[in-house]
Amino acid sequence: MVLKTANEFTGGADSELYAALAAGACVITANNRLAHHLHLGYARHLRATGRRVWETPDILPWSAFVQRSAEAARAHAGGRSPLTAAQEQWLWSELVTEYDPGFLCQDRAFAAQAAEAWQLLADYALPLPEAGGDRESEIFVALARAFMRRLAALGRDDAAHDPTRVAEAIGAGRIAISAQVLWAGFERLTPAQEAVKRACAARGAHVSVLPLPNWGGEGDARIFATATEELTAALLWARERIAREGHGRYALVVADLAAERRRVVRLAHEILASHPGAETVPYEISLGTALGEAPVVAAALRVWQLAGGMLAAGEAAALIQSPFLHEAKAERSARARCAYEMLMGTSEVDVTALARALRGGAPSAHAGFARLAGIVRRWPRRASASAWAGLLMGALSAVGWPGAAAREDYQAIAAVHDVLESFATLEAVAGGMSYARALGFVQGALGDRVFQPRGGDAPLQILGPLEAIGLTFDGLWVMNLHDRAWPAVRPPHPLLPLAFQRAHRLPHAFVEDDIRFAGRVLEDLVGAAPETILSSARHDASGALRPSRALIARGAVDGQAPAFVSRFGQAFAARAALEDYPVRAAPLDDARTGPFAAGLLAAQAACPFRAMAQYRLRADALDAPGYGLTPAVRGAVAHKVMEIWFGELPEPRAWLALDTDARARRIAETVAAAQATAADDYARFPAAFVVLEARRMERLLAQFLEREEARPAFRVVEREKEVALRCGPLAMRGRIDRVDVVDGRTVLIDYKTGRMPAVDWMTDRPEYPQLLFYAVAEGPQVAGIAYAGLSARDGGYKAWTRDDALLPEATVVADWGQVTGAWPALLARLAGDFAAGGGAVDPLNGACEYCGREGFCRIDEGGGGGDDE
Ligand code: SF4
Repeated sequence: MVLKTANEFTGGADSELYAALAAGACVITANNRLAHHLHLGYARHLRATGRRVWETPDILPWSAFVQRSAEAARAHAGGRSPLTAAQEQWLWSELVTEYDPGFLCQDRAFAAQAAEAWQLLADYALPLPEAGGDRESEIFVALARAFMRRLAALGRDDAAHDPTRVAEAIGAGRIAISAQVLWAGFERLTPAQEAVKRACAARGAHVSVLPLPNWGGEGDARIFATATEELTAALLWARERIAREGHGRYALVVADLAAERRRVVRLAHEILASHPGAETVPYEISLGTALGEAPVVAAALRVWQLAGGMLAAGEAAALIQSPFLHEAKAERSARARCAYEMLMGTSEVDVTALARALRGGAPSAHAGFARLAGIVRRWPRRASASAWAGLLMGALSAVGWPGAAAREDYQAIAAVHDVLESFATLEAVAGGMSYARALGFVQGALGDRVFQPRGGDAPLQILGPLEAIGLTFDGLWVMNLHDRAWPAVRPPHPLLPLAFQRAHRLPHAFVEDDIRFAGRVLEDLVGAAPETILSSARHDASGALRPSRALIARGAVDGQAPAFVSRFGQAFAARAALEDYPVRAAPLDDARTGPFAAGLLAAQAACPFRAMAQYRLRADALDAPGYGLTPAVRGAVAHKVMEIWFGELPEPRAWLALDTDARARRIAETVAAAQATAADDYARFPAAFVVLEARRMERLLAQFLEREEARPAFRVVEREKEVALRCGPLAMRGRIDRVDVVDGRTVLIDYKTGRMPAVDWMTDRPEYPQLLFYAVAEGPQVAGIAYAGLSARDGGYKAWTRDDALLPEATVVADWGQVTGAWPALLARLAGDFAAGGGAVDPLNGACEYCGREGFCRIDEGGGGGDDE
């Protein structure tokens, strides 16, 4: 009998495969996706023939086949069941931790790689490599031997991951097999799979590897100017085909889907899911995100982290506002207020403090976290895995997790239960463990598991190349075929000796093998649909791309950029022409001429609209919640430190006279005195935080003094000096941080605790003109102006001086008199523009970054489709 392909089956053709399945054939698929689609196709076929009930067909992916066979062999021979995947994972991580605590300790990635290498040996029916490889290989061999010893000590085996053992069991008749065994979707079989296939045939089964589909096309090759154009074209193509035919199965295969998933999802949602004027096209995208990133799972993880000790304020704020807690909706406002206060007031909390913070306005949340605090107090120091699994579940119940979760969250919730159940099975291989160890494992398992909501049978599938092998479609577009993504060449396995991998021709041992494999995969994809398009772009957001040779060989033509305007672009184009209103306020009346703070000049220079918003409309940005002290408080304390220090010790020789201990003491006293001026701000934090902050300031001051000592001799003659000046129509005032005298000449210094501004004092719109204001106010004796950095990242000076040797690395301005002589007019013009009501949205480069008024000035509003090139 000649069987039709699995693809014809999924396409709905009346194939002998249906009969084979109905007669009890076993179909082993290359991956879960193909198994799922075969199940759906079979069900569709039977429903079409009027059947309402039927036996579940024996279709399963290869890994499940091996697991099932290993269980069957054990049941036949008696004995204990093979290790589960979670148990194996635990053993590997235990062994890695025990092997060399100083080198690899707790390295989950290494344990995962070791398990992967172990599986690779099993799939290729290979023994452990001989010693003599590199250090990593030797460690792996030692770990693998320890793994085998541990299995023997436990009286267990890992047959569930060793297909060769399954082949032996089949050959020995310890496993019943179907009369017909079909392999679907395999581009090639591994040696262990070949062994299983041979064993089935030797037992008299009819064994076939279903041929991959081949519609006989060549593939239409296109190259687009940009990656966005390419993706837009592919999505519009799918939308148009599906809308035109009203049914069908289409696929978008993305060569590097893992890297591109976010971008693809964003544009797919824009084009397929909710574009006005067109019907929604259902689609499914593979390669889900880590289970730990699903919001309902993230909430559970935060509950468990909180149960274990302290939780960062940001995480705690996210937790109490989570919709996955009891009564989340009813107490939404109160919880949000509590989250804001917590963020502004502390850096981390424990469960008792959190419960206390919620007591006022959120009684349900308060009760939940108080319950959790009570439970946690009774937790044992060590417990078995199954006991911890129960306690972890109890912690979630205490706070009412998962609350009123939506239906689409239930697959993720079920996955959490599944991970906890797997964790509980560790009881058989692990002794008592601490909560930290238990949580670490569960957290890792949730992070490792890819969450892929089980799909139906959407007309558009977005897949990676290997996932599409074995499926058939009405149309297929393979994209991102450029030099950075295709052919996908991966490095050899890091834990197996390269010579060993090459001797056995393991995957990725030779680059040319990867290239040949990629070529075959592309041919398979081209054959998977009657209409196939292959494409690349010449540029993406990171730069130029070279289209793959496969496209060139197919005579690729330039792709036409599709006409597509995003929803935002459409809405923007249809908006009222608000931009036509001039941004101009009435001139200030004569009564309102100041005094204004000199910061007005900086705002006017940075962006006239900002100056108008800030100084006339009082439109200030909201405080952004964040950890710890606000930048404003930190800056004020740092200024205070300088003021106190240089008030008491105005020149280097004064502090150089102190011995090391006395100087350290003096620095600490200075910082403590400065912190005392902000006592209310510090009072909200634990003592440890205040101490840490003090140590940081002490380090900064010590470093600053070191730099000061390298300067030519100077003396600080003024600190926080008030100055006043009339600029054009306005009276203005300011405060000079420090005035130094160097060799009889005056230098004005302005401290900067954040980013150091550019020294651009010769432009029409200097970024920070306060120093010019101070210089003009102080008069012609000023011989230098400087920023002094007070941050760990930006220390040192940025200065202009009339003469050299006043400050290190200062720029000496040869025509000082002429340059400074222009500053009064510059300041008068800035003040005059402000007074006249000019308020254009015209920011300097980078000015918007720290402004916070973008929602008011609407600088970000623009059309377009979100092009990322
Ligand atoms: S966000 Fe930018 S454009 Fe808007 S007011 Fe601030 S600086 Fe001006």
